[in-house]
Order: sequence, then structure tokens, then C-alpha cells
Amino acid sequence: MAELDVDTLLLSVGADLPWLIGYEAMPLERLTMFVCPREGVPTLVVPELEAPRVDAADGFTIRPWAEHEDPIAIVASLVGDGYRLAIGRQTWSRFLLQLQDVCGGSVFLDATTITGPLRAVKEADEIDALGRAAAAIDTVIMAMRERPFAGRTEADVAREIADRILEAGHERVNFTIVASGPNAASPHHEPGHRRIEVGDPVLVDIGGTLDGYCSDITRMFSVGPARPDLVEAYRVLVDAQEAGVRAGTVGTPCEQVDSAARQVIVDAGYGEYFVHRTGHGIGAEAHEDPYMVFGNDAPIVAGNAYSVEPGIYVPGEFGVRLEDIVIATDHGPQRLNHAPRDIAMVD
Ligand code: ZN
Ligand code: ZN
Repeated sequence: MAELDVDTLLLSVGADLPWLIGYEAMPLERLTMFVCPREGVPTLVVPELEAPRVDAADGFTIRPWAEHEDPIAIVASLVGDGYRLAIGRQTWSRFLLQLQDVCGGSVFLDATTITGPLRAVKEADEIDALGRAAAAIDTVIMAMRERPFAGRTEADVAREIADRILEAGHERVNFTIVASGPNAASPHHEPGHRRIEVGDPVLVDIGGTLDGYCSDITRMFSVGPARPDLVEAYRVLVDAQEAGVRAGTVGTPCEQVDSAARQVIVDAGYGEYFVHRTGHGIGAEAHEDPYMVFGNDAPIVAGNAYSVEPGIYVPGEFGVRLEDIVIATDHGPQRLNHAPRDIAMVD
């Protein structure tokens, strides 16, 4: 904060607050705001009726506000006016607008400039938590390799996966993409009522949160033998993903993970069908810094955790993606996911 000349950090809903103090603000109309001055004791301004949810005020004080009080006025009294305030990106605009009204002389900045770089470098206990989350989501994929898909809707398979994500130890299901047949050509397909048929490829991209840290994996399934054009594209994809993983050495610009994976796909003639970045950081949030994308020349540092997930999407035909979470270490990139990377043949 001193480096960035920020006087006070303001955090509300979003992942910054639980990452910092272990408490997650309820995403409701009553304001929760952590007011953290550069020096001195921070204050958690929280609705009185939600104050019992705060386990321990370790290193900060709690300021519960009653229904007749104005929480914006309370925050304003804590921060004063005429300062540089860094506010969490996911804070509701309603609260930011009100704060800007009463602290008109202050400058508002994006708190991610402070929290993003800190959150991007995982400490040992965070890497352990990501490892547990990855192991848990691997077991879900393993279980689905033994399950029938034919005749079921995507939504039905997605529901089963959601149950299994929780059974595997996650406290939260974050997403369950089940995209069958031509639907897999839409990278963020919403599982629907399409009935999965024999011969269909099925793209499964799933994740949850376990002990506050996220899992995220993509694997391909095929109902019966996979069609030859898909097998050919997938063979290229496996090589592309391997190249992306291997490129992730400490000191390498993040964008080189993207270019390494992309080059394999371009060389094989599928370049126009790889329509997204190669990866995203992961931690308390499913998508966070650092992003493995063209233009991000920030060097990879030990402790970065990110996905490597190239894809090939042929509209109207099929889509394939392969995704693992990787930790950058001084001894090279290490995958956290170990579920088999072949196309799983299911009934
Ligand atoms: Zn994913
Ligand atoms: Zn991902």
C-alpha cells in the first residue's frame, strides 16, 4: 500500500476478503466492508445480524451496524476524506457511488493492484489446499469414466457431477460444463436438455472450492469409439497442452505459455479454432492473476498457480479441450491434476 501510495484498502464481496481475513461477505444489500488503513488496526463494518458469522476478529475490530444506522457514513468516518482509497473490484457499484458521494475529495483505485500480485504467489499452505482440491476433482473425473452417458441429458450428467464434486469434499460447486456433440464447440456451453447419443464426444469442464481454494479440470469423454476427426484434433491438443505446461518455467513471460501451446495448434492447421487464451491463474477464485494470454509479459514466479487449457472448437462439428492446473516451482512446472488425459470411452 505504501508503494502504491494507498491510504486505505476497502474490501467487500469477492474473494479478496476471505483470502485476507477468512471471512466472506454475504452478497446482499446490506453493506459489509473491511476498512484496512495502511497503518493501525483495520475494522470490519458488518451488518449486526451477520456479526455472529465472524468467527474471530484476529488483528481487526468489528463494527456491527444496526438497521437504523447508515453503513456508508460509518465507513466514511473511518476513512476520512481526501485520501487514496483502493476498493475491491467486485464491490457493488451502488456502494462505490455512495462512497464517492460522501468522500468526494478522495481518489478511488482498484484494490486488485494490491491484492492481485499478492494472491498470485501462493504460499505452501495455499499450494497444499490447491493440491487437495485438484485431487478431489480428479476423483470426480475418475468416477465419471465408469458411468453411462448415452440416453441422458447434459443437465442430468451435470447434476450428478455437482453431487460428486460435493461428495469429494468441496464446500461449493463453481461450474459443471457438460457439452455434448456439436455443443462442445461452444467453450462455455450451458448444460441443457440435449440427449447424449452414441458416438457423441462430451466435453466436461468442472470445478469447485475446497477449503477456500478452487479446482478446475477439463477432460474429454466419448460415447463409444471417438470419431476419427476428433481423435486427430485431440492428438494435436495433447501435444499443445504438454508444450504449454513445459513452457511454464520461472522467469518466462506468461504469454509464452500461450504461444507455446498455440504454436502446436497453428502448425497442425487448427489455429482459427483455438479462440481463447491458454490459461488463467487460480486460487481463492477460479479465475485470477496471472493470465496466460498474449500481451501478458509478466514473468512467471515460483508459487504461481494457473491452468493450461488449450482447445480446438470446430463450429457445428465438435470441440475438444484439455485442462490441468500447474504450479510454477524453481524445479519446473508441476501439474496438480493426475486424472488420465486420454479420451475416456463411456457407454
Ligand atoms: Zn475449466
Ligand atoms: Zn480453467
